[in-house]
Amino acid sequence: MTATLDQARDLPLDAHVHTDLSPDSLVPIDVYAALAVELGIAELAITDHVDFDPRDPAFEYTSFEERERSVRQAAERWADRGLAIRFGAELTYNTSWDADLRDHLARHRYDFTIGSVHDWPGSPYVRSRLPRWIEGRGLDEIVGPYFEQVAAAARTGLFDTIGHFDVVKRYLQPYVTPAQLAAQPEIYETALQAIVDSGTALEINTSGLRHSVGETYPPAAVVERFRELGGIGVTAGSDAHRSDWLAWGLDEGYRILARAEFSELTFRRGGAPVAIALPERFALA
Ligand SMILES: [Zn+2]
Ligand SMILES: [Zn+2]
Repeated sequence: MTATLDQARDLPLDAHVHTDLSPDSLVPIDVYAALAVELGIAELAITDHVDFDPRDPAFEYTSFEERERSVRQAAERWADRGLAIRFGAELTYNTSWDADLRDHLARHRYDFTIGSVHDWPGSPYVRSRLPRWIEGRGLDEIVGPYFEQVAAAARTGLFDTIGHFDVVKRYLQPYVTPAQLAAQPEIYETALQAIVDSGTALEINTSGLRHSVGETYPPAAVVERFRELGGIGVTAGSDAHRSDWLAWGLDEGYRILARAEFSELTFRRGGAPVAIALPERFALA
């Protein structure tokens, strides 16, 4: 598939990419790198999964050392071809393994970290429990446990960015629609405020554009609210698990950020955070 080849060749960064060192991707890092060069993407953050629950698929799927070696060696191979490759991770957050996660980050250094809430033991969003969980509950109660974990992830201050802020809308399909969630924006407020207060960046994750939810995680209105609340940092990633998903929808993601009056991405290359300007064509007229 070459759908992504239609896009412009000026995207500076895709900050959320999974390789075959994640259990749910089969793509070797060099395949992404070659595509990034072809697509004119200047920089990639490789963010393979790191899980802390032994029941989760990425738990000890690879070692830190193997992931770091893979990414650093690829970075060397591709540096002189105009592509920068950074060593990141998408760490699954839950309060129940907060201590393990802190310990991991104290011992291991990444260029860039994404904190994401996925599944956890007892999560009400497991398919088999979902209908019973939703029945008789208001939307705020339905999404409550998810956003409590997102807020807790932000408050740790451990992450550069919070991944796919409202991915819970995917778990809730088809029982709750994105439109229903959008009609009650107050359900996001506490978690958004926690991200703002902690100085963590908010990711716009464009994988939702290829999922049945049909919109980014989070959608434009939430990015705008983040801005109103005083949020200053944003990142953007395609969350690619397949080669044809690399940079998928990133153009749209960048546009949403620009409309919310963000002119740059916040990123980190191992040291202090850096700002990466959005291409000029996204600037508001
Ligand atoms: Zn994720
Ligand atoms: Zn991901």
